[in-house]
Formats: sequence, structure tokens, C-alpha cells
Amino acid sequence: MQLDDLYQEIILDHYKHPRRARAIPDGEALVDEENPTCGDRIKLNARVADGRVADVQIDCAGCAICTASASMMAERAPGMTVGDFRRLSRGFAAMMRGGPELSEDELGDLAALRGVREYPIRVKCATMAWHALDRALDKLGA
Ligand code: ZN
Repeated sequence: MQLDDLYQEIILDHYKHPRRARAIPDGEALVDEENPTCGDRIKLNARVADGRVADVQIDCAGCAICTASASMMAERAPGMTVGDFRRLSRGFAAMMRGGPELSEDELGDLAALRGVREYPIRVKCATMAWHALDRALDKLGA
């Protein structure tokens, strides 16, 4: 199997079966973000306990990249300390904008999104869920 095919599989799996996804009624999301260039929308709720991300719920209506990235984020974040999540989120956003590569360990499934860097207009699709949880953590005072 070619690496590109594997990455495609990972993205499609997250897109078709987004983790920690549920319908969040309008007005009940801690963060409600839109990406007008692509038409993506993410509603997100989160909980923090003892300095860690305790729960994340996403309601994503968007393209495959946006939904897959949101799913990967929702899978990764719970259990992480707030500091670790913020570091990973910053590192991922920087890498997507042409900054240094994260290690394979840090990336995990996110490696499948690396190719999006070739399409600058889609980078926001890949980073918006991460930014959304960052904003939710700000709102929670975490
Ligand atoms: Zn998109």
C-alpha cells in the first residue's frame, strides 16, 4: 500500500466516523467557528479537570480535511494536560504553515494531513478544530 493511499484511508475513516462527534444545538456550544473560505463550521464543547482536558465534543459540518482533523483532535486531546495540548496545537499549526516538522510520535494520525501544506487555502480547514479547542480552553480559564 502506498503511503498516500494509507493517508487517504486514515482521513476517510475519521471523516466517515468522526470521534466524539454529536449534534450540539445552536447556542449550546462553547465555541462556534466558521471558515468562510471553505464553508466549514465547527461547534465544540469541552471540559477541563485537574489541569487536563477531560472531555471534548465536536459537531463539525465541513469538508473531509476539516472533519478528519477535528476527529483526530477530539481523539487526542482528552487526557492531555492543557499545556501539552496547547504545545501540540501550536506545533501542528506552525508545521502546517511551513514550520518545523513534528516527530512521528507527536503526529500520530495527523501525519495524514501533512500533504495539506501544499494547498495553503486548505490549511485553515486542518487547523480550525485545534484553534477551536484552544479558544474553548481560554474561555474555561484553563
Ligand atoms: Zn474545509
